[in-house]
Amino acid sequence: MHMVQYPVQSGDYLNVVAIVHEPAGKAWDMTDWDHAAQADSIRTHLAHTCRPVQDLIHAIDHWRLWVLHGRLPMQSAAEHARGRVALLGDAAHPMFPYLAQGAGMAIEDAATLGACLLDQGQTVPQQLQAFAQARWQRNARVQARSARNGQIFHSRGIMSLGRNLAMRALGERLLDVPWLYDGPRPRVA
Ligand SMILES: Cc1cc2nc3c(=O)[nH]c(=O)nc-3n(C[C@H](O)[C@H](O)[C@H](O)COP(=O)(O)OP(=O)(O)OC[C@H]3O[C@@H](n4cnc5c(N)ncnc54)[C@H](O)[C@@H]3O)c2cc1C
Repeated sequence: MHMVQYPVQSGDYLNVVAIVHEPAGKAWDMTDWDHAAQADSIRTHLAHTCRPVQDLIHAIDHWRLWVLHGRLPMQSAAEHARGRVALLGDAAHPMFPYLAQGAGMAIEDAATLGACLLDQGQTVPQQLQAFAQARWQRNARVQARSARNGQIFHSRGIMSLGRNLAMRALGERLLDVPWLYDGPRPRVA
């Protein structure tokens, strides 16, 4: 399992996300992606965690549950736009929340699309192609990195020992992704 927490609403609330693996074969209601979660069940799942995590979990009474579905990274610009139709955000490139970038990429898509649609010298299909070409490789890279993070965070056995040693030795630097934040900015209007 792994957990992520960060303050939201100017620090009035703390968003806490816990990601756990269910045994294979468990039947989920796939018609709804947002399920009610029982606090007791979450606490049982996370009973093996350290004291600070336990304190945090017991301070939270209301949880929501999402079943996560994986999808391969984008393979081409055609998955973003064809003709006069374009897909943005999760509709085009859903990703596991192991890099916390799904909404970030959706916002970057929107900014780039807005800029491309302002290009009066092009037809709409050309504008959408420009958008797709500008975005698909970055989105694919973030999808792939998110999936890889999941393998590392949730690894077992020898791989988890290696991960723990590396985290002790390198700390935050191990999780640093400068290309994500320092790379070329999306085109904006
Ligand atoms: C547990 C979890 C934690 C996450 N943490 C982070 C994070 O820390 N940082 C981050 O950047 N991202 C995070 N994400 C990912 C992020 O939530 C998504 O990537 C983002 O919401 C995608 O935005 P979107 O607009 O593409 O799709 P959505 O947010 O899914 O929006 C689609 C909207 O369309 C509506 N809709 C669907 N069908 C129809 C229809 N037929 N007619 C009209 N409306 C319809 C839906 O109700 C929904 O409101 C997380 C996701 C999960 C599940």
